[in-house]
Parts: sequence; structure tokens; C-alpha cells
Amino acid sequence: LASRTFHEEGTVIRVGNLEIGGETVHVMAGPCAVESREQLLSAARIVKEAGATILRGGAYKPRTSPYSFQGLEEEGLELLAEARAATGLLIVTEVMDAKTLPVVAQYADILQIGARNMQNFFLLREVAKIDKPVVLKRGPSATIEEWLMAAEYIMSGGNYNVILCERGIRSFETYTRNTLDLTSVPVVKHLSHLPVIVDPSHAIGKWRFVTPMARAAIAAGADGLMIEVHPNPIEALCDGPQSLTPENFAGMMADLRRMVEVT
Ligand code: PEP
Ligand code: MN
Repeated sequence: LASRTFHEEGTVIRVGNLEIGGETVHVMAGPCAVESREQLLSAARIVKEAGATILRGGAYKPRTSPYSFQGLEEEGLELLAEARAATGLLIVTEVMDAKTLPVVAQYADILQIGARNMQNFFLLREVAKIDKPVVLKRGPSATIEEWLMAAEYIMSGGNYNVILCERGIRSFETYTRNTLDLTSVPVVKHLSHLPVIVDPSHAIGKWRFVTPMARAAIAAGADGLMIEVHPNPIEALCDGPQSLTPENFAGMMADLRRMVEVT
């Protein structure tokens, strides 16, 4: 179902009044995690002012250490809904398991399946039953074939609105957090009709290199971007080193606008 041979035209996913996979590149931006009302509303205003259309923010966080901040859970979802009401931004947020899927789906405009859950086939089957678009992140060690098969799980369960997200894969390189496999953008667009977005923040792990790789992602043909932005990255509870400041995010948006229509 994900294959181009099945559906020659590129799929355009409609959510709110946006078209993902159309002419315009949409940017999903915001903090790694929802931390507080003040932090999230401030991030939402920053992202909106710079011209993005979708707010990201995790309420349930898949952290490497069980001792790290795990997210505000339902309170975080309520804050996301408040930020949406205040700004008109759409909300994308991660769902980690089937148990919390009903509550996450109640608040989110777009569901996110994190890299670590890309092959959680049971969860994929559950999101397949929800009538909302799904951002499916590529697993850190998943081949393109495995990634497309994960999309197939969601589509074969009845949800055709899958947005593929390249977020870097594991390699021998340690300078960057992961290795951004931009090759996957033209390859997946050749193999599949689904929209492809790129998350340079998690791929690289260092804010300084996010803007150049966001530009490269657009040049490679990405339909959108996911970017971590924090009002004050030094104080972020999660992924501060890869988060853009408000100024850097506005600068990135201005740079991208010289290449393509971006919102
Ligand atoms: C995230 O988007 O905050 C996240 C945890 O990303 P990934 O699943 O790509 O690591
Ligand atoms: Mn993050």
C-alpha cells in the first residue's frame, strides 16, 4: 500500500487546513518535551511568529535513562491543547503505547510514533485504527525496507495517512548523535508515494548543524521538517544541546524561505 507502484501520485495528507506532501514545506517545531505552561506557551508563540504551522512537544517521553524526566503525561497534553487554542498551531505529539493511545489521540492532531517504537507492531496496529495522520519515525537501525514495512502495518490496518520521518540512524560516527541519512529522502520518494519529512535535530544532536542540514533536507526533496526549539535551551529538561533558540529558529525559517515556500 505504501508503494509507488500501487499509487503513482504523491499522497497529500490534509490536516486542519494544511496539506502535507503538497507544494508547501510544513515545519513541525517546538520543544522536545512539554515542561511547563510557561515554557510551552512561550515556545508556541516563538514557533508561530517565525511562521511554522505545527507545534511539536512530547508529553510521554521515551528516555534512555529511567531517571531522566519522563514527561508531564496528560497534563502535558492539556497544555498542548491550550497552546493550540492560543495560537492556532496544530499539535503533533508522541504516543508510546496502546494504553495511552486513547488519551493522546483525544488531544493530538497528528500522532507521532517514535524511532524506538517503529517496529512495535502491536502499537502500529492500534494507531492504524485511529483517524488521524501518523508521523512514523525511522528506527535508529532500521533499513528503508523495514521502515516502509512499518508504514505498511499502519496502512493495512486502515490508516493511509502516514508521514515518514527520517531522524538519523546509528553509525560508527560519534561526533553527531546519529547519522542523518538524507539518501533515504529521494530513495523513499522513489519507492513510496507517502510524504517524507526530516528531523535534523535528533539526527545531529547539536544545534549548530541543524540549519545547514534542514536546508540540505529541502534540497533533497523533503516535504517537511521537524525541528526542536526551546525558549531557553540551556534550561531544557530534554535535548537542550540540539534545540534552536528563538533567534536561530527564526533565522532558519528565513533561510529556508529563500529556497522554497515554508510555513
Ligand atoms: C522526539 O521527537 O522527541 C524523539 C524522541 O524522537 P526520536 O523518536 O526520533 O528519537
Ligand atoms: Mn527530543
